Amino acid sequence: LLLAYDPARRLARVQVGMERALVNARMIYEILDLEPQQGDSAGATALHVKNGEVRFDAIRFGYAEDAPVLRDLSFVAAAGKTTAIVGASGAGKSTLVALLQRFYDVDAGTISVDGQDISKVTKKSLRGAIAYVSQQPYLFEGTIRDNIRYGRLDATDGEIEQAAGLAAADEFIRQQPQGYDTEVGENGVTLSGGQRQRLSIARAIVRDAPILLLDEATSALDNESEARVQQALGEIMQGRTTIVIAHRLSTVVNADHIVVLEEGRLAEQGTHAQLLADADGVYARFHRLQGGHGLGLVDDRAEVEEP
Ligand code: ADP
Ligand code: MG
Repeated sequence: LLLAYDPARRLARVQVGMERALVNARMIYEILDLEPQQGDSAGATALHVKNGEVRFDAIRFGYAEDAPVLRDLSFVAAAGKTTAIVGASGAGKSTLVALLQRFYDVDAGTISVDGQDISKVTKKSLRGAIAYVSQQPYLFEGTIRDNIRYGRLDATDGEIEQAAGLAAADEFIRQQPQGYDTEVGENGVTLSGGQRQRLSIARAIVRDAPILLLDEATSALDNESEARVQQALGEIMQGRTTIVIAHRLSTVVNADHIVVLEEGRLAEQGTHAQLLADADGVYARFHRLQGGHGLGLVDDRAEVEEP
């Protein structure tokens, strides 16, 4: 094929790769808001979110040459609705939400928000419109309060505590030596995977953004915390465009739309009822295999909360 070696393109890939490495290393997604010009296209303008429709149009992406991860993928996450993405581990779900935040750029196709190609808007405005709970929640050096406030720097203490309450985090925070002022990170207390996940959810709640991306956001929680957090998330999802990478059938059943990925391709899409109606479909097969209890599509890399 005509996949000529293109040093400039490769360099660009390395550069965004490094940005992603920074994000992974410190998960300072929010801090990138403060230094975001890197990688903005010439003449980039601010994104204006009206309704929050997110459209993936024939996108293609791979981390390396000749190793496609997403292939000609198209679907729409309708404004104000919940779209669930399901698919086996490695299908490309997390990559999809990374591309929407421009941690990487697509190789072909476009992603747009309310008709605006995200490659032509500033990263600052794009990320400012998105609240993201990643599969591997990261905490910064600083206090628990700071860690929630990174969601929105002008959030009040009251808003922070309210968000923590919704994220089922308030109780364990108050049990820490200095409560909300307890230091976390290298010089502070160590929190479990589930506690980090709840702080990350609280951070997303205070962010109050029109687009919400939840990547297996509750996978490390025990059943009781998960039920509480799901209820809170259900409330904040109202009226926002939510893309949820789901690991529980209950989340998927209630979604307005379900997108099933298989090896980076769109296998099928529809509502739960529509997808079940096709007995030979991928979704129905998974559902049967799991006896209706779960999708068996879970990414099992998430850390589980210790009791
Ligand atoms: P999912 O979230 O559905 O489990 P991912 O989007 O994480 O899938 O991964 C899709 C594919 O891309 C997998 O083959 C995975 O190994 C690969 N991949 C994910 N992240 C990276 C990365 N940073 N560098 C190289 N390959 C990656
Ligand atoms: Mg994933």
